Order: sequence, then structure tokens, then C-alpha cells
Amino acid sequence: MPLSSHPTPEMEADSLENYFTSYEDVEIHRLMVSDAPRTQAYADAISKNKHLFNGKVVMDVGAGTGILSLFMAAAGAKKVYAVEASGMAPLIQKVSVDNNFADIIHVIHDKVENVKLPGDEKVDVIVSEWMGFYLLHESMLNSVIYARDNFLSDSGTMFPSEARIYACPCSLQSLYEEQITFWDNVYGFNMSAVKGFALKSKTTKPEVWLVSESDLLAEPVCIKSFSLKWVPGDEIKFFTSTTFVGITRSGPYQGLCLWFECDFDGRDYDEDGNEFGSLVTLSTSPFSPPTHWKQTVIVFGYGASQSQPHNLECDEENGANGVETDTQNSKNTEGNESQTKHERVQREKKDDCENKTEQNSAQKVKTDARETLTDFNNLVEEDEVVGWKLAMSQSEENVRHYTMTVEMLDPEESEHPMSCPCPNPRCLIIAKMLEQEMEDMELIAEVDDCIN
Ligand code: SAH
Repeated sequence: MPLSSHPTPEMEADSLENYFTSYEDVEIHRLMVSDAPRTQAYADAISKNKHLFNGKVVMDVGAGTGILSLFMAAAGAKKVYAVEASGMAPLIQKVSVDNNFADIIHVIHDKVENVKLPGDEKVDVIVSEWMGFYLLHESMLNSVIYARDNFLSDSGTMFPSEARIYACPCSLQSLYEEQITFWDNVYGFNMSAVKGFALKSKTTKPEVWLVSESDLLAEPVCIKSFSLKWVPGDEIKFFTSTTFVGITRSGPYQGLCLWFECDFDGRDYDEDGNEFGSLVTLSTSPFSPPTHWKQTVIVFGYGASQSQPHNLECDEENGANGVETDTQNSKNTEGNESQTKHERVQREKKDDCENKTEQNSAQKVKTDARETLTDFNNLVEEDEVVGWKLAMSQSEENVRHYTMTVEMLDPEESEHPMSCPCPNPRCLIIAKMLEQEMEDMELIAEVDDCIN
């Protein structure tokens, strides 16, 4: 059922129009819906937490083909507002009719920022699949925060309820072999001269890549977490995280692997203190079945050693996520497209013609890329400590764009965070003290409980 809407000027940018047009490609929706770990996580989160949906008014922000709205209607929702800005919206209406949910699912063909609910109605749950590469890339999160601040009741629930970004040092031998050493022998010709350019092009943008568990060189660290119910818009504008970890598997330290997890926490307690409802987690980690997000890797170029701190700046505003390396002084300014969920799916479609693309980008790189590749192996040993500072900042002009900066840190010279998982003696002692403090606090809480 179409509802009235009120445009807000800040969302009228042309770039957003293109963004929504990109979602009118039904193949993108097929690829998302057929991503089983993704879609099943939503199905489970809703069906295993029916108490949140049964008889409730809910909102699906960015409903696409309406699959999440159907899950909610099937879980007994009284009313589902399916908000979709792209031309897919009329299809949701048809799908609702075909599944006998025409009276339940109310389609709003507009940006959520323009929506006005009748009588300023509030909803009990907001469900959305807003996540991009390494969580924030694309940043539909702003729209979800807008929906929360304007339509969620005070006691309402956000699904997902929590999102976390993880990072881990990794080796990238498979990427190296497929895309760099490929040039050693091309139709019987030695084209290894191209390798330097090829590696350089890899270090000029984060790569979406499937990293295997065995390529991780340390225990993953959660570098940022957001509670969707409470995160202020400001907190996703800019953040940094400084991390030191101990290497647990010796090998070539060739990049940082990033991924995200989302929790759907519907657990609650009844009057007798019995827990009900479920916690469902959608994980895009190398330990979980692959999703269309894969993982994102920041590929270090040659010279990324501990003794020689190395800075990367991944400028998402250049679309292809240009990376600036201060040691090599090169910046990718090629391409001006914005990477969206559309692109992450398009990327899969492009797999077949990747070699051609490689050749094109290699041609565009400056000639100073013809440098030695030997340091790319940057071997690290078990128990060695490595550190980095990662910063993500949202563009002021376009909130869907982020600039990512990675700075390698010298573990001897740089200050470690208070709670640091690395095996430096000082960090181990602090970790032990914090653990002891936690245990003491739990004991005090238990004693308090007994007394009361
Ligand atoms: N919920 C669907 C589609 C997810 S893709 C599914 O799970 O399969 C995200 C969708 O959100 C796209 O269809 C896009 O057009 C829509 N979208 C993004 N930002 C939006 C906004 N501000 N208002 C309304 N729809 C939006």
C-alpha cells in the first residue's frame, strides 16, 4: 500500500539516484537472496524469535524483493512496512499478494528518509540488510540509523542488534599466485616485468577476496563494534583502532584481512527468570561458510616490514578505493564509480573477464612500479608482535563513502592500548590484572545477590 512521503533535501543527490537504479537489476537480488548464510541468518533470526514479531508492527528498511518482509509476515507480524526506494518496490506488492500477505505488507516506494508513517506511528522492530564490504563500505547504515531515530518505539528492537568489524594479519599467497606470478609465463612468454605493476595495483585498493582460515597468522581481533539500538550517527563518521597481536602461525605477512559479524539477539527472560528467544549470528569470517561479501584484504606492497612502518590510505571516494603509500608516493585516481552492494555482486559476475581487467589496470600504473617484489614475503615468526592503526572516516559530501587508512606500527616504539591481546610481558600482566579485577567484581556481585 503506497503511503504519502515528504522529501528531505539532503537525500536528493544524483549519486543516490544512480545508487537506487543499480538495485533495479534483479540479478543482484537473486544473488543476495541465494546467498544462503546471509538469507538463512535472517530467516533464523526472525523465526526463532517469533515473540518479537507476532502481532507487532515492524519495518523492513531497504526491502529489495521483499524477502525479509515475507519472513516477518510469516512470523505473525500484524503490519510490515516494506520501505524500498528502487523500482523493485512495485514487485514487493505483487509478491505480497501472491503469498496472501497483501493485508499485512504495506509497501512504501521511497527512501526511508522521506517516509512519514500515518499518525506518526512507531514500529516494534526494524529489520534491515544494510551491510557492505567490511561492514561500512556503502554505508546504508546512515539510513538505518535515520529509521531508528524516527520510527522505532522506545522499547523497540533493531535486527541485526549488534555489528562487529574484525581484523587479522594474513598471508595472501593464493592471491599472489593467481594474480601476480601469473605474469611469469603467459602463452609461453616471460611477462614477469608486469608483476611489479600488478602488485602495485593490488595495493591501491582493498581487495574482496576469499581468505582461507589457514592464511590467518594470528587470533582475529574485534576492532570495532556497534550496538544498532544505540550507536549515534557521529560514531560511524570516524573511528580509529590501534591493535597489536602475537603471531600464532609463522608465514609471510602480506596483508590485513577484514570481515564483519552481525548478531540478532532476541533473548529475553520471563517472570520466573527463564531465558527464551535466540541469538543468531551472521558471520562473514574465514571460519564460516563463504558469503557474497567474502572478506576484504588490504594488500601490503613490498617493504611492509616492521622496521619500516608503512602507511596505506584507501580512499573510497576514488571508487576503486585508491591507496596511497607514503613510501612509494603513488595514488590510484582511476575510476569514479561508487562501490555498492550492487558492485559487490557485479564483481562476482565479472569473475570471468578478470584477466582482461588486470591488463587494463596494469597499463594505467606509473612506471615507478617496476621495483623488487622480494619484500612482499615479509616473513613473521610465531610469537612475534605486529601492530597497526586503522582509521575509517566517512566523506562529508557522500556518507556512503569512506576513507580507510592503515598505518603499520612498530610494537617496540608505539604505545599499546590498555587492553591489548599481544604477548608482550607488560600487556600480559595488564591482561591478567584486568581478568582478576573482573573475577573479583563477579564474586562481589554474587555475594550481593546472596545477601539480598
Ligand atoms: N532486504 C533485501 C534487499 C537488501 S539490499 C534483501 O535482504 O534481499 C538493500 C536494499 O536497500 C536495496 O534494494 C536498496 O535499493 C535499498 N535501499 C538502500 N538505501 C535505502 C533507503 N535509504 N531507503 C529505502 N531503500 C533503500
